[in-house]
Amino acid sequence: MEKAEGKVVSVNESLVGVENTKGAVMNGEVAYIVIEDGKRLKSEVIDVKPGKLVYLQVFEDTSWMKIGDHVEFTGLPLAVKLGPGILGSVTDGLQNPLYELAKKEWFLERGMVVKPLNTETKWHFSPQVKLGDKVTAGSVLGTVPEKIFTHKIFVPFSMLDDYTITSIAPEGDYTIEKTIATVANDQGETFDLTMAFEWPVKQPMPFHKRSVPAETLPTGMRILDALFPIAYGGTACSPGPFGAGKTVLQHSIAKHSRADVVIIAACGERAGEAVEVFKDFPELIDPRTGNSLMDRTYIVGNTSSMPVAAREASVYMATAVGEYYRKQGLNVLILADSTSRWAQALRETSGRKEEIPGPEAFPMYISTLISAFYDRAGVEILPDGSKSSLSIIGTVSPAGGNFDEPVTQATLLSTGAFLGLSRALSDARKYPAIDRIDSNSKYPSLIENEEVNFLKELLREGKSIASNLLLRGERGITNDAYIIYQKAELLDAVFLQQNSFHDIDGVTNPQRLRLMFDMIRYIIEAPVNIDLKDDIRSHFNFIRQAFIDWNYLQMDDPKFEKQKAKITNLVKQKINVKENV
Ligand code: ADP
Ligand code: MG
Repeated sequence: MEKAEGKVVSVNESLVGVENTKGAVMNGEVAYIVIEDGKRLKSEVIDVKPGKLVYLQVFEDTSWMKIGDHVEFTGLPLAVKLGPGILGSVTDGLQNPLYELAKKEWFLERGMVVKPLNTETKWHFSPQVKLGDKVTAGSVLGTVPEKIFTHKIFVPFSMLDDYTITSIAPEGDYTIEKTIATVANDQGETFDLTMAFEWPVKQPMPFHKRSVPAETLPTGMRILDALFPIAYGGTACSPGPFGAGKTVLQHSIAKHSRADVVIIAACGERAGEAVEVFKDFPELIDPRTGNSLMDRTYIVGNTSSMPVAAREASVYMATAVGEYYRKQGLNVLILADSTSRWAQALRETSGRKEEIPGPEAFPMYISTLISAFYDRAGVEILPDGSKSSLSIIGTVSPAGGNFDEPVTQATLLSTGAFLGLSRALSDARKYPAIDRIDSNSKYPSLIENEEVNFLKELLREGKSIASNLLLRGERGITNDAYIIYQKAELLDAVFLQQNSFHDIDGVTNPQRLRLMFDMIRYIIEAPVNIDLKDDIRSHFNFIRQAFIDWNYLQMDDPKFEKQKAKITNLVKQKINVKENV
C-alpha cells in the first residue's frame, strides 16, 4: 500500500499538527518528520481529525522543526524488536541503544537512528522443527543460548495462520538478520523468518492461559516479604513524596528479588537520575550468580534531553519486552520509576490538544491507561504447561505527597499491593519508609497468615500506645502498656527497618526471614518482669543492639549462632526474675 504523506502546519513543543496531503492516516501509526538537515524525527499519530488535520506526538527534540517540513507516515504502529540480545542492553523508549553510545556521550543526537538489536553478534541456533512440521504463532523454531538461559526462537506472534515449515537452518551460528526458517500458509504464500521480529508495544501480547498470582516473589526486603508481599505475576504501587526512598526501594528489589529477568523503566524524577542507573547497574554483580547483574537486566529510560513523549514510549517498551520474556518461560519483574512522570507527559499532551481535562488537569482516560498497563502483568500458563510470570512494581510521586490525587488513586485501584512511603518515617530515617499500618497486600506472605496478623496487631497496639505516651508521658501509662510499646519499637528497629546499603542486612533470604521471625515472636511472647520503666527501656535497648549485631552477621559465620544465643539469654534473664532469686 502507498504510504501517506503530509506537511507540518503547527508546532507546540512535542505536539505537532500535520496536514495530510496524500494517502490515509491511522491513529497510532509511526511517522517521521524530515527536518532541514535531512534528519528524521520519530513520532506517533495521536489524533486524526475530520478533514486533513493529524496530530503527532514527537519523541525527539522539536526545536529545529519548521512549518512546512515534510512528514512520512509508515503505516505501522510503534513497535519493539524482539529477539536475542535484549538482556544486558540499555535503550531509550524507542529502543535506541544508549549504553554503547553513552560511553562517549550520554545522549543521542537528534534524529539518530541505530539498530535496536545488535546485528553482528552470531547466536548459536539449534533447530527444533523439521521440514513439513506444522507451526503457528508462538511455535518454537529452535533455541539459542543467551546469557544465563536458553532463548526460544518463536514463529512471530503476529502470524495468525497455520503454516508448514518449508526450510529450516541447520545447527550453527547466525545473526538475527539471517533467515533461519521459511514457512508457507495454506494459500501457498511463503514467509522468511529470522531470530527477531517486531511487536506493537501498546498491544498486550495475548496470554496462552492466564492464572492467578498466588506465590510470593521474595524480594529480600523483610517488610515486604513478611507484611506486604509481592507475588509472581502480581502488581504493586509505591507512592511517596520526594526523597522518601522510592528509587532506593526499587533498586534494592532489582538487585535482590528472585525474578529471572528484571526490567527497569527509568523515567527519573531528578534530571540525570536515569543516567545514574545506566552508569551504576552495569557495574553491579548479581549476588546470586556472581555474574554481572546486567546479564538478567534490561534498562529502558529517558535522558533529561529527551522530550516528555518519550517517557510514554519507555513504559510501553518495558512492558512489551517483559511479556516477551514471560513467553520465554521466565519470571519477569518490571520496575517503573516514576509512573507519575509518564502521567504528567500525558497531561501535557492532553493540554496541548485542548482536550476536556479530568481532575487536576489529567486527561479523563488516565485511569483506563494505568489499569491497562498493570493488567499486562500476570501469571501465564504456557503451551507446555509450565508457568511464567510478569510482575510490575510502579512508583508514584504525587505532588506534596498527597495520595488523593488521580494518578495515585488510579494506580491503587489497579494494583494488588500498596506500599505507601511515609515522610514521617523517612524523616526519622526508619528505612524502608513503608507505612507499617496503612500499607497492604492481597498476596501471600513468606510467613503464615496467623503470624502476619500477630505482627500487625502488635504494630497497631504499639502505635496507639505511642500516641498515649506522647499525650500523657511515661508516667501516664502502665508498665504493661510500656512493655508492649517497647516490643513494637523493637520489631520496627530490628525487623522492619533494613539498611539497603549493607551487604548482609540489605538482603534477607526466606530461610533467614523465618529464623528472624521466630526470634521476634519469642521476644514478643516472653513476659518481662521489670518494675521500673527506665529498666524496661534499657532491657529492650540491650536486646535491640544484640539483634542488630546479629543482622550484620553472615549466616555461615561461626559467630551467628553465638549471637543468637546471646539474644535468647538477654530475654530469658527477665522472664521470671522473682522466681529465680
Ligand atoms: P525518592 O526516589 O523517593 O525521591 P530516594 O530513593 O532517592 O527517594 O531516597 C532518598 C534517600 O533516602 C537516599 O539517597 C538514601 O540516603 C535514603 N534511603 C532511602 N531508602 C533507604 C534504605 N532502604 N536504606 C538506607 N537509606 C535509604
Ligand atoms: Mg526517585
